[in-house]
Amino acid sequence: MIQKKILFIHPLGYNPVNAKTDISRKANIMPPLGLASIAAYLDQFQINSHIIDCYADPESDELIVKYLENEAPAFIGFSCTTSSFLDGIRIAEYEKLSGYPSSYKLPIFNYPKVPNASCISSRGCPYSCSYCDRSVFRKSFRYNSARYLYNHLKYLKDNFNIRHINFYDDQFTFNRRRVEEFARLMIQNPLKITFNCAARAEHLDFELLKLMKAAGCWMISLAKFTPFPGSPIYSKIKEQGEKIGTFTEDWEKMDCMQFLFIPKGLTKQKMEVLFIDFYKSHFKRTTVLIGYMSMIWRSPDSWIRFIKDIASFLKFAFTNKRM
Ligand code: SF4
Repeated sequence: MIQKKILFIHPLGYNPVNAKTDISRKANIMPPLGLASIAAYLDQFQINSHIIDCYADPESDELIVKYLENEAPAFIGFSCTTSSFLDGIRIAEYEKLSGYPSSYKLPIFNYPKVPNASCISSRGCPYSCSYCDRSVFRKSFRYNSARYLYNHLKYLKDNFNIRHINFYDDQFTFNRRRVEEFARLMIQNPLKITFNCAARAEHLDFELLKLMKAAGCWMISLAKFTPFPGSPIYSKIKEQGEKIGTFTEDWEKMDCMQFLFIPKGLTKQKMEVLFIDFYKSHFKRTTVLIGYMSMIWRSPDSWIRFIKDIASFLKFAFTNKRM
């Protein structure tokens, strides 16, 4: 019997020429965890698959053509969103991601050591912030157990020498018991892996922070803004129209870098000025500058990346142009 093959493609989503200089891509290259999970699931049924990630390697066209010519896969799958591990699957198929982990880069200054990786250990969030898309998971919340998580990190350490993990969960600390158990496992059987996560402030307290720090937690992000279709604010904008502002729904420009909704009473120019002012006032604060300077010894790899791309970063700082 001929062994059927499947090719999974994570499309780039925009022009490869632009991608090469896109500072937001260079500052954060996340692996397609959903495709890797599906590949792992298929492996359990002896179905052979391969992943080509155009985001990590914008010049993958040739690779795709070659694969199609040589392997003639029975199916091709595309993923245009980030995904997570499916319940019941032990380990995502990192081995199938060519270039993993070195082709992937966590957000600059967001990690202490390399090689590092990202991970999603839960899905959903029971809250309904107006700007947040809850259309897929609604108010549900499901998660990997603390033991699963610990084993997963151990796998990454043993097989890829991963030294830092960025958890992309919406609400890493929502289930306090899970996080406490995970932290204790990391303290009792250290893996020498640090981690970052995102949380909602009311799901943190001093005791939990102390425990997480002892377990290797390096940074917690507390804010987020994604006013896309599915978020309550998007429906409100559509319903109330001109009464609350003007909205240009141009998907070519919906890249989180441009103001497409202008609230009544403001202009696009004014919002751009306020945005730049905010950036400048934040990054010029002495404590922030000292924080970044301290990254020279706290995250040397971030500084190497920063210096390598200093021209692009300066261009962005002065012109607000990403590419
Ligand atoms: S912004 Fe955070 S807390 Fe609010 S709904 Fe989204 S994931 Fe939940």
